[in-house]
Amino acid sequence: MEMENEKSITQQTQRPKYDCLLFDLDDTLYPLNSGLANAVHQNIKDYMVEKLGIEPSKTDEMTNLLYSNYGTTLSGLRAIGYEFDYGEYYSFVHGRLPYENLKPDPVLRNLLLSLPYKKLIFTNSDKVHTIKALRKLGLEDCFEGITCFETLNPIHNGTEITEVAGSKATNPTPKTGLKCSEIFDIIEHFAQPDPTTVLPSSPVICKPSEHAIELALKIANLNPKRTLFFEDSVRNIEAGKRVGLHTVLVGKSHRVKGADYAMESIHNLKEAVPELRETEIKAQVIAYPGTEKLAMETSVVA
Ligand SMILES: [Mg+2]
Repeated sequence: MEMENEKSITQQTQRPKYDCLLFDLDDTLYPLNSGLANAVHQNIKDYMVEKLGIEPSKTDEMTNLLYSNYGTTLSGLRAIGYEFDYGEYYSFVHGRLPYENLKPDPVLRNLLLSLPYKKLIFTNSDKVHTIKALRKLGLEDCFEGITCFETLNPIHNGTEITEVAGSKATNPTPKTGLKCSEIFDIIEHFAQPDPTTVLPSSPVICKPSEHAIELALKIANLNPKRTLFFEDSVRNIEAGKRVGLHTVLVGKSHRVKGADYAMESIHNLKEAVPELRETEIKAQVIAYPGTEKLAMETSVVA
């Protein structure tokens, strides 16, 4: 009896600080200078002109306003009244990205496999892009799960499911087509501020909304207090901190408000986060090629 108590006390003191490492994908697991982000930006503007009939001269200002007010341009376009198919949007925007710029990253792969934690992806991107990018980086088997656009914005049998105040409402899946009279002019809205007009809300759930982060944590059954969140976006870091996550800003050497740690490159994660270094010796013993599942299941001695 006494020994059992002793054992349970030992186990408690050895409990690691985190249960899960939660990673953003784009510009976090590969560097911003890979050129994908710039190509995505250009493809979104092309989509707005070619598929939604938006004037080319307006796309720069519109994408800036939509991105800053709605988290993603896609979310903003839906909010202001454009209707289009998400699959078509993503295949246009991601279909012709310079994926050849993403090279296998064995350094990151070994780092991830050496960390005996549950590791998940949490991205605003769609599933096709996420899997393709992870494959190009040689990281497809380093994660136990992916929370992506489709996870937070599920469509079943042609019906978009939206969570409204705890209950689920269904809307027909949007089909590409214009209803110009119903489009909210967001450029005009910010050029001529009118306190009586409110920005329309979006049916899309995405970072940096706290609701999106909370929903992602709920779906993956994660406690924010025991989750370490890696992200390149400062506003996503700030939102993550507000919902209680431990946060690591990637791509910057200096911390910002809301970031517990900061690192220039994801390759520096052990240098930047002391708690991850402490698991290294144990991890070397349990993580060898092909047994990453074992690493996940084995208890961590920090
Ligand atoms: Mg990112």
